[in-house]
Amino acid sequence: SRYPSGIAYMDGQYLPMSQAKISVLDWGLLHSDATYDTVHVWDGRFFRLDLHLDRFFNGLEKLRMSINLSREEVTTVLQNCVGLSGHRSAYVEMICTRGSSPTFSRDPRDAINRFIAFAIPFGSVANAEQLKRGLHVAISSTVRIPPASVDPTIKNYHWLDLVKGLYDAYDQKAETALILDFEGNIAEGPGFNVFAVRGGQVSTPAKNVLPGITRRSVLDICSELQIPVAEKAVSQDDLFGADEIFITSTAGGVMPVTKVNERSIGTGSVGEITKTLMDEYWKRHSDPKWSTPISYFS
Ligand code: PMP
Repeated sequence: SRYPSGIAYMDGQYLPMSQAKISVLDWGLLHSDATYDTVHVWDGRFFRLDLHLDRFFNGLEKLRMSINLSREEVTTVLQNCVGLSGHRSAYVEMICTRGSSPTFSRDPRDAINRFIAFAIPFGSVANAEQLKRGLHVAISSTVRIPPASVDPTIKNYHWLDLVKGLYDAYDQKAETALILDFEGNIAEGPGFNVFAVRGGQVSTPAKNVLPGITRRSVLDICSELQIPVAEKAVSQDDLFGADEIFITSTAGGVMPVTKVNERSIGTGSVGEITKTLMDEYWKRHSDPKWSTPISYFS
């Protein structure tokens, strides 16, 4: 099949992925006019679902979209998608598109917004080999669209700059990309935030990025373990001079980086603080403060 195994929800129905289809007139497709969020399920439990719902509902409000579902109803839909899919470890996406107007009006206020959700098998930015030896990244010359144009705190499908960054990286024989913000500092990559460690101090860009939930989790874990951490500008030189670099995403968690533009970082292998954070991140997946069980699996 051309579709991953999983279940989608749309228009009140649960469908196999192959049958979940939207109109070609949807503004989500025509204009990237949509917001979404991705939460994962690990061994039958959602990881920090509340934070994902907060970010999703905040995006809806800022984009002036509405779905006819409450937070509790969205939670039920997500649980059902995962339960019906049978995937104990899943990648779960909730989406709201602008939709389209019955008359193809050009006024977004006429559009009927569309809510979609789905659960497919869990996926990661880094594969098993890359998690062990560290990812090889390249800093792209592509600049992330400035926050005054597209608000990076709203999770969105404005990905042309990120995808261009990926191709720039592949051209440099790297595996993924880091792209710069409009001020010339490191911003983020296609689907992840970035951290640098130097002299025991952990830092991550403070602004011009999506406030990732995995990023939040690393900040929280550092505070708990009393590892010095700061949200501040990270320059290209900060990266090259780092002892350790890692990236963070719902799709894979904390993932090490050992090469930037073909130069080795630190010792050239996965650093100790990175290893600790990877370990602590996964440990928290069974902690009731950080995760919620899905009844289908209990
Ligand atoms: N930045 C961008 C642009 C992203 O799309 C994502 C995840 N989809 C992230 C960062 C990481 O966010 P999170 O940790 O919440 O998955």
